[in-house]
Amino acid sequence: KAVYLNGSYLPLQEAKVSVLDRGFLFGDGVYEVIPVYYGKPFRLDSHLQRLDNSLAAIRLPNPHSRSEWRDIFAPLVAADKNQYLYLQITRGAAEKRDHAFPENTAPTVFAMCADIVPFAGTQDGIAAVTMDDSRWRLCHAKTITLLANILHRQAAVDQGGGEAILIKDGNVTEGAASNVFAVLDGVLVTPGPSPALLSGITREVILELAQKNAIPCRESAISAAELNSASEIWVTSSIRELIAVVELDGAVVGDGKPGPLWQTLNSLFQAYKQSLS
Ligand code: PLP
Repeated sequence: KAVYLNGSYLPLQEAKVSVLDRGFLFGDGVYEVIPVYYGKPFRLDSHLQRLDNSLAAIRLPNPHSRSEWRDIFAPLVAADKNQYLYLQITRGAAEKRDHAFPENTAPTVFAMCADIVPFAGTQDGIAAVTMDDSRWRLCHAKTITLLANILHRQAAVDQGGGEAILIKDGNVTEGAASNVFAVLDGVLVTPGPSPALLSGITREVILELAQKNAIPCRESAISAAELNSASEIWVTSSIRELIAVVELDGAVVGDGKPGPLWQTLNSLFQAYKQSLS
């Protein structure tokens, strides 16, 4: 299976980067995860716009134009399959290990396509655990520096959960690898864009679908207390799509099953995907 590395397509086993790569030494890079439905990248422009934002946040010029990115992805994508594109750009391999940016160093550009394995928790929902958000102030950038997210997710898994819901200064930011929605007094609420969270493309699609279908929704802060009183909680991401949280910190959410608004939005989301085939 071929992957893309720095201008070439080669078998995954042969794709190698230097141990001096700043991605390896410093976590100095950004990434994207783009679903591919029926052989077509989903919301590609939104993902490439977010890539621009992430690169700008770490002051790394985008090595490719949008049409070059499209050309790079095309040979990786199999026809008619549900897959995802993974794309990573690091500041490259410099001869000298130095925190400051190197001069005259080409970025490392890597892309591959992998099958989407349907998420086991979709039908029944998952348990989630809240915890204090230990991350930094650039969470709007999709950086490969994911150690804090990993430790949050593992802490949730250690407690029998499927996702960590992160709380900063008393308010929900997002999940370890997802955005958070709550149904509060019948209104679908998700925290608004800020440096404290990644603006998910799945989140964007759900807000659009809610608006188009006259489902009451708003972007505003969700306090930890409001989250505890929510009739429904969901986490959303490109890989898992919409997942209901049916247990929060050991307490049942709603009636312990994915709720009516989840059913509605999940159906709308699946129908929207299908309409693009
Ligand atoms: N927030 C974080 C920290 C993520 O890692 C992700 C995706 O994995 C998301 C939110 C959801 O973003 P998207 O819907 O674009 O996948």
